[in-house]
Amino acid sequence: MSILVCGGAGYIGSHVVRALIDAGDDVVVLDNLITGHVDAVHEKAKLELGDLKDDEFMKRVFNENKIDGVIDFAAFSLVGESVKEPLKYFENNFYGTLCLLKHMKSYKVNKIVFSSTAATYGEPENIPILENDRTFPTNPYGESKLSVEKMLKWCDKAYGIKYTALRYFNVAGAHPSGEIGEDHDPETHLIPIILEVALGKREKINIYGDDYPTMDGTCIRDYIHVMDLADAHILALKRLNAGNPSDIFNLGNGEGFSVKEVLDIARNVTGHAILSEISSRRDGDPAKLIANSNRSIKELNWIPKYNSLEKIIETAWNWHQNHPHGYQD
Ligand code: UDP
Repeated sequence: MSILVCGGAGYIGSHVVRALIDAGDDVVVLDNLITGHVDAVHEKAKLELGDLKDDEFMKRVFNENKIDGVIDFAAFSLVGESVKEPLKYFENNFYGTLCLLKHMKSYKVNKIVFSSTAATYGEPENIPILENDRTFPTNPYGESKLSVEKMLKWCDKAYGIKYTALRYFNVAGAHPSGEIGEDHDPETHLIPIILEVALGKREKINIYGDDYPTMDGTCIRDYIHVMDLADAHILALKRLNAGNPSDIFNLGNGEGFSVKEVLDIARNVTGHAILSEISSRRDGDPAKLIANSNRSIKELNWIPKYNSLEKIIETAWNWHQNHPHGYQD
């Protein structure tokens, strides 16, 4: 199989590219490198540098490469930034995917695995969250992804493009080899920031709010390892290739950890004190997000292997220790 991975130089995309290559697939990575890194792309993948919104570039990519299916990660993903700059998010995440779908339709590529998010749910009705629970995003990032899911539904009906939308909970960790991992600029995610404090690159971590309705007042999230997520993408593609209908799946471990609990586990894993300070809430953060991923386990045959927060943080710590300056090292 020859798979086009949009956003394949990014954090999650680069791990999925490795998993695809390890499974024997041919991979074409499409990336504009706004947030991606050339060094994150596996040497066996073909790299096409450009943007989904560039019509001529996209025609060339589809003309020159045989593409059997698409996995789409190309998106901005910062909740706080999306609240301040919603149009940036709708343009890149919604319009960018619209452009991709237009070319898929023209070139008769009819399978896509789409990178969606738990942010589509907003403040959840029930915990753990099921795929058919209410979706009411509390930030433009989640809304842009939910809008794409809706567009995909209509593209399936009209053009027969089959999709699997994977709603990720909080992705963390790094490849067990320590060769690829998380490197954002600026870094805004909890676990890498905590590890930067452990490395001495930052003085402290700000805990965004301790007045949420949770047991210790800090936000609760469900953390999933990037390699388990990568496995799920390969299984999702396999499921579409077997002729199954379009569907939406949650991907999380079904266990919630508060910000303070994450910090405590990171202190144990790293052996560092990791200074923290309570600061004000961050816009758009729901109090508690925990997945029910039973349908992924049953329908995708997904078996998460790194299903403890210790293991997740250990692999991230390995990456950060070996690459304290990310891909600049
Ligand atoms: N968080 C925090 N301090 C930080 C970064 C994140 O307290 O410097 C909190 C954030 O409010 C959220 C959780 O950690 O409750 C996870 O945030 P992250 O940005 O990693 O992922 P998100 O939940 O936004 O996808």
